[in-house]
Parts: sequence; structure tokens; C-alpha cells
Amino acid sequence: MLQKQTKSHNFEQNDFDVAIVGAGINGAVAAAAAQAAGLRVLIIDRGDFANFTSQESSNLVWGGIKYLQTYEFALVAKLCQARNRLIRAYPNQIQEIGFLASLGPNAPFGRLLGIFGTWFYWFIGTAGTTIPASYSAKRAKSMEPALKSGLKAVEYFDAYLPDNDSRFVYGFIKRAKKLGATALNYTELVGASHESGRWSLELSSAEGKRTVSASAVINAAGPFAQDVSQLLESPTRARLVFSKGVHFTINRRLTSQNRVLALWDEQKRLFYVLPMGDRSIIGTTDTRVDNPRTEPNDQDIDFVLKQVNDQLGLEQPITRQEIIASRSGVRPLVIDGKQSQNQDWHQLSRKHVIEANPAKASITILGGKLTDCLNVGAEVIAELRGLGLQAKLPRKWFGEGSQARRTELDQILERQGVDAVVRTRLVEGMWRRHGERAFEFATDEPVEVFEGLGISFGELRYVAKTEDVLTREDLLRRRLPIAMSRSAAEIAENSKLQSALVDMGL
Ligand SMILES: Cc1cc2nc3c(=O)[nH]c(=O)nc-3n(C[C@H](O)[C@H](O)[C@H](O)COP(=O)(O)OP(=O)(O)OC[C@H]3O[C@@H](n4cnc5c(N)ncnc54)[C@H](O)[C@@H]3O)c2cc1C
Repeated sequence: MLQKQTKSHNFEQNDFDVAIVGAGINGAVAAAAAQAAGLRVLIIDRGDFANFTSQESSNLVWGGIKYLQTYEFALVAKLCQARNRLIRAYPNQIQEIGFLASLGPNAPFGRLLGIFGTWFYWFIGTAGTTIPASYSAKRAKSMEPALKSGLKAVEYFDAYLPDNDSRFVYGFIKRAKKLGATALNYTELVGASHESGRWSLELSSAEGKRTVSASAVINAAGPFAQDVSQLLESPTRARLVFSKGVHFTINRRLTSQNRVLALWDEQKRLFYVLPMGDRSIIGTTDTRVDNPRTEPNDQDIDFVLKQVNDQLGLEQPITRQEIIASRSGVRPLVIDGKQSQNQDWHQLSRKHVIEANPAKASITILGGKLTDCLNVGAEVIAELRGLGLQAKLPRKWFGEGSQARRTELDQILERQGVDAVVRTRLVEGMWRRHGERAFEFATDEPVEVFEGLGISFGELRYVAKTEDVLTREDLLRRRLPIAMSRSAAEIAENSKLQSALVDMGL
């Protein structure tokens, strides 16, 4: 755990149209959409923005090819459309990527069915990505030497977040703030009452307690939605069960190209080797748990390492010592009123559910995926209207800005004498994460914090100053993908980074 140090944040306003509890992806999109619809929005999180489930995902924006196996065609079609929309709206932050599926003995189908399945997936995804392909065993091995010899492969295309999920979520918070919303991290909802048609909400932060009022409340507390429902005395028909998933970052890159390796574990579940800059992420697992707070344990490590070493043909098997970072989260899966708590959770749909309680002017968002975030934003606006709030058709509330000035950024760094290879990495990272705002810090020490990461000291300072960073972890783990791809020891040994952090008051 990185060191925490609290700074203070103040806000003037006390009355809001909508108060959103929880700033993971669901709360963040609700905030951006509602503020863009002309409502006065407050969004709070008791930790940092995106500090819980929304920082533990596989960073994939995908149509869910594996749900074809459970015949959830409507869900897959909807997720593919959501994916296509996101790819168009975020040409830098969300990038198409190939998934090379090695058809080993655990694969639930052979090459022919694999070809059919990937084409069907492409078709159901309205041809929004590159056409799938199939490869002989020899060709697959030559494309990706880490694969086992003698296994044919198919390749289909989805998308991923080259930075990380929590940075993507923060983009919506930033957008909501720019439009006028109040967004507070490290602020918890601890009490609530609904009287004469208005909510009175008690908030607690390092500065103490404070009461605000709102016409409507959105419960976007993710795995804690039921706790917040109790606090609001606004129960939901649907309930949640939790499926734990872990990921490990290892200190070597396993793929020769920027692509994902899709493999099946001994339980015939898909798992992935994902590129993360010059490192790789391996995951994930699917274990039912009762408590949403989870940690990766020895059993998880042994399981994942065994699966990846069994399924790949690596000359040097991956060892525990190569794991530089790990993360663990729970997928909140929705059980509707009629389903049993004990039903096979592998069969539970990954669909989100939004429930409104008109009597109390509250909305609860349960379950879902990062990929579906634009739909969640639109559905929340419809529900707010249903509660009687004057939500207009939202102005532009998502997407990247103009791409026109990117080459200018490159020229600026060239004039600064930055080496061509480093420049390519820096420009790509700066532009992807900041767009035109990158000009505000481009000339400030364009030197990489870690070689190969494409993050400069200037960017580090800019983010710390302008992006609601209160702790080291906010900066290194969530706003920037540093702690995900460099070990705690590497971070501690980087004396220049350490003194920069101290200078920034972190
Ligand atoms: C292992 C794993 C892999 C995944 N991979 C993918 C993927 O590749 N692609 C994809 O699309 N989806 C993926 N998902 C799903 C996706 O990550 C989740 O659906 C999504 O992040 C849930 O977001 P959320 O906003 O509902 O919840 P959260 O992100 O958990 O946000 C809820 C927030 O509420 C806050 N909160 C709770 N109580 C209070 C309170 N009283 N006051 C203030 N704040 C409060 C919490 O601090 C938390 O930040 C994955 C999930 C897991 C676990």
C-alpha cells in the first residue's frame, strides 16, 4: 500500500438537484451525463475516485465473446454496440486490439467452431472491428513465440484501455467538474433522510461532517449498493452476489505484438495475457465470495501461474518472483427478485440493472461493465426525468476533443531535443491522457519517470496539481499507470521520483 497523506478540499454549494454516492464508472458517467443535462450535480466517494471495482478490471472494452457460450446474444449485441461507440468516441484512450485464442486441449471448441464463433461475434458486433482470422499451428507460433507449439489459433478483435480503467473513469469526473459539478473524493455518505420531497445527506470527510440537500439521490456504490440502500431506506428488488477476480503484472512482455493472448484454464474458463507497456498482465479468476473486500492470496497466485505456464510454451516458465504488482476485485453480479442466491453464478448475466424509487426520488445502479458505461449514462437521464427532474437532452458529455494539434506536440518535444524513440512514447502518452491540455506541461522536464513508460516528470507534476490528487496512490495507481507496471521496490528506488513526490507534498 502506498503512503496516504490527506490534503483538504472545500466546496461552497449546499443544494443540488442530484447527489451521486460512489464514483466508480457508474457514478462517474451518471455525473457527467446529469451535469451535461443541466442538473446541479454532487458526486462523492468515500475513497479516491475509482478506488474500488473500477480500478480492478481487465481494462477491456469488449462485446463479451464468452457470453455467446451461454446464448446471451442480446447482451453480446448490446455490449458490441457499446464497444463500437466507445472506440469511435475515444480514438486514443480506447484502442482496438487482437485476441489470439490458442486452441489447446482446454478450449471448448476446435478450429472450425472457433472460426464460426469469431465470425458470428464479428457479425453480431455489426462489423465494428477488424475481420477475424484463423491460423495454422506453425503460423500462430511464428506470430507469438510464447504460444505452445502444435496448436492452431483464431483471432478476433475487441478493444482495451492502454492506460487503465481508473484514469478512464476520472475522465468523466473531470468532464462533470468542467461542466460545473461538485466532485469530492474521500467523502462518505454517513446519514440520510427524505422529508418534504428533499433529501438531507450527511457527508463525512477529513474536514468533519457536513449536511447537503438534493432533490434526488443516485446510489452508485457498486458492491456496497445494498449498504447505501439501507442508509437511504430505499430497498431494491434485485440483489448482488460477488465474483472475485485477480490480476498479476509480471516484469516481462510475453507478446511480440500489441495483442492479447486468450487461453482457457483447466476449468475451461477464458483468461488472458494482456500487454501493459513493456510488462504483461495475467488474469483473471472467477471465485464466489461473500465479502467485497478481497486480496490476492497464495491460492490465486498458484492457480494463475499454473494455468499460464501450462497453456503457454515459454522457455522460462513464469515464477512468483516475476510478479511485480497484483490486484483483486469483485464483479457485482445481479440476481433479480425471482432468482435464487445459490444459483450457479457463472450463469448469471453481467447486465446492469437500474431501479428507481419514485416515492423517495432515488435511483440505484446495480452491476454492469465498464464497456456499457455510455448506456448507463443515458438510462440514468431517462430515470431522472421519470422522477420529475428537468433533465435536458445532455450536451456533449463524453469523448475526446479535436485531434488536429497532435503533431504540434511532437514538434515541441523535438525542439526540446528529446530523443526520437522517447518522444514517440511521450507524445503518445501525453496526447492520449490529456489531448490539447498536454500543451500546458509539454515543455516541463520531458524526461521519462521510468524508461519505457511514456510519462514525463512534467506530466506527473501537472496531474498531481490539477487532478484532485490527495495521496501518492491516487497519483501513481489511478491517475497514471505507474504503480501497475512498476513494482513497489522500483518506485522506492527511483530517487528522482521520490524527491518529486516529496516536493509535491505527497
Ligand atoms: C476482475 C474484474 C475484471 C473486470 N473486467 C472488466 C473488463 O475488462 N471490462 C469491463 O467492461 N468490465 C470489467 N469488469 C466490470 C467492471 O469493472 C465493473 O462492472 C465496474 O467497475 C463497476 O463499477 P461501479 O461504479 O458499479 O462500482 P465501483 O467501481 O466499485 O464504485 C463504487 C464506489 O462507491 C463508493 N462507495 C461505497 N459506499 C460509499 C459511501 N457510503 N459513500 C461514498 N462512497 C461510497 C466506493 O468507494 C466505490 O468507489 C471487471 C470486474 C472485475 C472485478
